[in-house]
Amino acid sequence: MSTPPVVNVDIVIVGGGIAGLWLLNDLRNRGYSAILLEATALGSGQTLASQGMIHGGIKYSLAGALSGAAEAIAEMPDHWRRCLRGAGAVDLRRVRVLSDHFYLWSTGAVAGRMTAFLASKAVRGRVETVAADRRPPIFRAAGFSGSLYRLVDLVLDVPSLVAALADTCPDAIYSLAGAATAWTAADSGRLTLDLRTATGTRRLAPAAFVFAAGAGNAGLLATIGAATPAMQRRPLHQVMVRHRYPHALHGHCLGRETTPRLTISSHPAGGGEQVWYLGGTLAEQGVGMAPDALIALARQELAALLPWVELGPARWATLAVERAEPRQPRLLRPDQAFADWVGNGANALVAWPTKLTLCPHLAHSVVERLTLRGITPSGAPVPVLPLPRPALAPTPWETAFGA
Ligand SMILES: Cc1cc2nc3c(=O)[nH]c(=O)nc-3n(C[C@H](O)[C@H](O)[C@H](O)COP(=O)(O)OP(=O)(O)OC[C@H]3O[C@@H](n4cnc5c(N)ncnc54)[C@H](O)[C@@H]3O)c2cc1C
Repeated sequence: MSTPPVVNVDIVIVGGGIAGLWLLNDLRNRGYSAILLEATALGSGQTLASQGMIHGGIKYSLAGALSGAAEAIAEMPDHWRRCLRGAGAVDLRRVRVLSDHFYLWSTGAVAGRMTAFLASKAVRGRVETVAADRRPPIFRAAGFSGSLYRLVDLVLDVPSLVAALADTCPDAIYSLAGAATAWTAADSGRLTLDLRTATGTRRLAPAAFVFAAGAGNAGLLATIGAATPAMQRRPLHQVMVRHRYPHALHGHCLGRETTPRLTISSHPAGGGEQVWYLGGTLAEQGVGMAPDALIALARQELAALLPWVELGPARWATLAVERAEPRQPRLLRPDQAFADWVGNGANALVAWPTKLTLCPHLAHSVVERLTLRGITPSGAPVPVLPLPRPALAPTPWETAFGA
């Protein structure tokens, strides 16, 4: 059998969620010749199911002390803000910011330890107590008697984020639909990927593949016969409510747990409506619950935590989804983004950002590993493949309620 023509490219990224798209932009900006291959639609999987919060880690400090996760993540909002201004590692100037801050509220008096922590030097510049006369309209109701804090966290419109990252590299993003793929490993462990299309077969033999396929990384690792790095899945069952209430809310409600009792982000929907997307402890408790039972619980939680809010006629739905991450002892939440070479000596890195927020950190880890192996930009042009461009995936609320 003759060898198919080899496509010359430095890096091939597999997976078009936030990790793959961010890496593509970052690597291209550093001069690498890089392309991205997506199995279905851009942003499908976790990215468009996320709440779009770029957080500075206070959410992970609700036990009353800064955890490792809080420290690793603290600089991320500033990285993202630079990118949103067009002065960072990737260009996010076309991304829609839904909110440039996030609220943290309690229904009654917050435990003394928590109040002291939220006012302490450790979080100065990241948390601000909101005085009664500066509260947003939703917290001006007579029924609200708790404390309100403002965090530096941002909320982004994720479809516009995915579109912005995809649009800056239109020549480098390909759909695998309609192509047959075959991985081959040489005795040295070096991988190549054959793409068979109606116009023939081409062989991709880059200096490195980057598996950025979210939960799909497990299948890719199995296909190439690599046992490590291992993956974990942590499920969530989110709730969506579409309504005409006039105020958006981006906030965590403090509860007794060390994770927010309820996290709400607000997303524009058609016809003057918005979707409140509900996560936090509710979404963890909801795992395994029937949608109707979870919706009933979500209604109870909103009535308990925001009793003055009348949503009016509303449509409800739920989304069961899994977070894909590097395996941790006791399935704990990883503190940082993860990138490492697969364990069988292949020229493939596996990448899980573990949070949308941590993509700048992920890119740093990938570049560090490439550089340590001497993989630098070759100056090769970006190759053209006879494959279509993948579509943008719909949001979970478009799927549930229509546009
Ligand atoms: C409900 C929920 C809310 C969240 N909210 C936040 C938040 O507010 N803030 C935050 O920082 N983080 C949040 N996260 C975490 C964040 O969404 C994820 O860490 C991040 O989106 C993971 O991105 P990814 O690109 O690694 O994976 P994914 O988004 O899952 O993307 C993987 C992509 O790879 C493709 N793919 C799969 N297999 C293959 C294959 N074999 N070949 C080619 N392509 C393939 C898929 O189609 C998909 O497009 C949330 C997660 C969930 C589930």
